[in-house]
Amino acid sequence: MLSVVIPCYNEAQTLPATWSRLAQASLTWQEPSEFIFVDDGSTDGTWERIRCLSEEDLRVSGVRLSANHGQQWAIGIGLAHARGQAVIVMDADLQDPPELVNELVEHWRRGADMVIAVRRARAGEPRWKRWAAQLVYRGLWRLGIGRMLPDAGDFALLDRKVVRWLLTWRTVPPFWRGMREFGFFRRVYVEYDRQTRRMGQSHYSLWRLCRLAWDGLFGLTHLPVRLVGWLGQVCVLVIVAVALAALLGKLEPFFALLAALGMSTVMLTSQLALTCQYTLRIVRHLEMPRNACVADYAGLLRVSRNSRRRRKRKAL
Ligand code: UDP
Ligand code: MG
Repeated sequence: MLSVVIPCYNEAQTLPATWSRLAQASLTWQEPSEFIFVDDGSTDGTWERIRCLSEEDLRVSGVRLSANHGQQWAIGIGLAHARGQAVIVMDADLQDPPELVNELVEHWRRGADMVIAVRRARAGEPRWKRWAAQLVYRGLWRLGIGRMLPDAGDFALLDRKVVRWLLTWRTVPPFWRGMREFGFFRRVYVEYDRQTRRMGQSHYSLWRLCRLAWDGLFGLTHLPVRLVGWLGQVCVLVIVAVALAALLGKLEPFFALLAALGMSTVMLTSQLALTCQYTLRIVRHLEMPRNACVADYAGLLRVSRNSRRRRKRKAL
């Protein structure tokens, strides 16, 4: 079976079209399929749409998150619930064409573990977004994450073994497109022209993109630790230099003291901020089971959850 995981945030208007194009495209896959829509705390009736679709089409199931946790989190929930031998992750707004899935599946059948869709053209996307992506991905690549292509997003097909491996990661919040680069899997890249958003507008403001990059930076690299280490060394050097200058009478002791105090403050606050950031991540990682934010299920997922509950009750 093939599973398609679709994170949705306020996509009520687009969903029927997404489902109908998916259903149409799935005729060419020649494999049974399931479509898992993950509602990431929408407020516009997306969940009601998902429930209607799940009643209409048995292949559709839904998971509702308790609040807006972000696309990466929603993808993780979808991956955890997918049952297929291969899982396709794609956006709900039809920017990732469902018709391309057939090509991804063909590569998977020929032995690829991961088939990643790379954007050749990005219609309707502002230029700053492309530059920002180039900057962040190239930066992360230089910092030791595998070869993250600036034009590759989350649209990809992942074999079951890749999904299983990805789900062992407990990085909070996850950053799937970076995490998947760490694995030694056979990967294939497929180019496509990204279309404009069908309805509504992108949920990724500059602020949200910065947060995503921040999560990637903290979750997958050691750069923050190294940066704070270098900063500490620079501060110590400056303190030693001003102390020497004061001893040799080249600097007023008052200014030397002021400079030393300033440098110590910079050093301590940066180290404290770093420690807090990592502690917060570790606490979230330890405390939060991945399913903690699930509020409701629809379709077959609901049925299987209820039957699991009944079985448990019987056993008791
Ligand atoms: N999305 C989500 N949670 C969010 C923001 C976005 O699940 O907090 C979903 C959204 O519904 C879409 C996908 O993630 O299916 C990509 O979002 P969007 O189209 O806004 O991003 P862009 O394509 O502009 O990068
Ligand atoms: Mg989009």
